[in-house]
Amino acid sequence: MSITKVTQHPTQNEELIFDRSQTGRIGYRLPKLDVEETNIDEIIPSELRRQDDLDGVPEVSEVDVIRHFTRMSTWNFSIDLGMYPLGSCTMKYNSRLNEKVARIPGFANLHPLAPVAGAQGALALIYKLQEDLAEITGLPGISLQPAAGAQGEMTGVLIIRAFLDKRDGEKSRERRVMLIPDSAHGTNPASAALAGFTVKTVNSTAAGLTDMEHLKKLCDEGGIAGLMLTNPNTVGIFEKNIKEICDIIHQAGGLVYMDGANMNALVGVARPGDMGVDVIHLNLHKTFSTPHGGGGPGCGPCCCTLELEPFLPIPRIVKDGENYKLDFNRPESIGRVKAFYGNFGMMIRALSYIQTHGAEGLKEATESAVLNARYVGHHLVEDFDKPFDSDPMHEVIFSHKKQTRKGVHTLDIAKRLIDYGFHPPTIYFPLIVQGAMLIEPTESVGRQDLDAFIDAMKAIAQETVENPDLVINAPHSTRIGRLDEAAAARKPVLRWQPDMETLSKTA
Ligand SMILES: *Cc1c(COP(=O)(O)O)cnc(C)c1O
Repeated sequence: MSITKVTQHPTQNEELIFDRSQTGRIGYRLPKLDVEETNIDEIIPSELRRQDDLDGVPEVSEVDVIRHFTRMSTWNFSIDLGMYPLGSCTMKYNSRLNEKVARIPGFANLHPLAPVAGAQGALALIYKLQEDLAEITGLPGISLQPAAGAQGEMTGVLIIRAFLDKRDGEKSRERRVMLIPDSAHGTNPASAALAGFTVKTVNSTAAGLTDMEHLKKLCDEGGIAGLMLTNPNTVGIFEKNIKEICDIIHQAGGLVYMDGANMNALVGVARPGDMGVDVIHLNLHKTFSTPHGGGGPGCGPCCCTLELEPFLPIPRIVKDGENYKLDFNRPESIGRVKAFYGNFGMMIRALSYIQTHGAEGLKEATESAVLNARYVGHHLVEDFDKPFDSDPMHEVIFSHKKQTRKGVHTLDIAKRLIDYGFHPPTIYFPLIVQGAMLIEPTESVGRQDLDAFIDAMKAIAQETVENPDLVINAPHSTRIGRLDEAAAARKPVLRWQPDMETLSKTA
């Protein structure tokens, strides 16, 4: 072992499990057999058995395995470790109670094919959550089937399409334009395209709002199927003209889809249904406290007006007297979008979250989320360029404009934050702000942590002036520094290849 290696922290220095391998080392020693040995040939025919000696499989003890994976787990940042201000993602702390409730054996072990009579409790839970989310959004039609926000979007725009096809018959083919603001999340145009729509982009104003004149102009061009709008939008600003926007779209014969990923700024305070929105998706894994990241599982409920309700995916979970049942008899439904009824575990956590907060608590969480973002916005406005003047809602956007003069960019600031113990915010999104840093603290960050984050950001602004190289070469405290992310994505190394020379030496 070289000197530099000995001086490094063992946790930071952990190698591949293959490198830990010692020939002959084992994890378990079993007692001698006290029954007669079975002839393996009688059980598994030899042609089905592997012939080699498991060459290259690591030979390690139990403690090797435990330490290896525990050490690796510390390379990740997690919501339980600290503030995770990833804008648009709403990375809030997930109460342990919600996790505990999701593990109640009657729920956790229920088979998705259990007969309806044996799943009444689960169906009652789904029904109750549907009622609560309908109340929160002001949109009474609801399906919890979609497994992500993006799938909720696709469900929503397919519903719009089914509605237009029914309303306009053959003529509906002339109505295939979906309007989407230039600030939108990339999933919006993707969902619209998948549902057979053509996307036209609506400009944003210098104030970060939908450009009303441009919207009207696009509507005048005709063929409008609808608009997909995020509110508050992706720069964290409430679209205050939302009622007028909805009127314009409705007058043009289209429907309004709201991307509800930012509902953390509205729950208990304002309802999309009251604003004139026709259909919305929620992200239970953002707003309603379910752990997320790493690809799921998630839950992206689709909520809509009574007019659109017949088109929701089947089966619907409905009340039948005192009991609950699955209703497949919905001839206008767009069909099924997910196996069984969606990701039930998310629904348990969401209902637990809603019930433990209560109506007042949900409103308070929303107010705290907005206050926290405004607090960060207020304290960083002198050190970083804040491209929009208006008060932000639950997330605040800055850019690297002041730092680029010193050669420091958003990516460098993000990497340097890691040295200060924070997960970086969302960077370079939305695309309409050059070098964007989208900071969303959520309600689950206290004053102390907010102040520490602000101090870290201020310190980085100071370092940029005094010693830009410190920021440009960050992080300095992690096992590895900067990755070639493009190469990692394009040429992933998915398989460890044994070094044949070392292998033959140890054998
Ligand atoms: C997260 C997000 C989505 C997509 O939701 P997923 O659950 O990740 O599929 C869509 N729009 C916005 C604004 C988002 O932040």
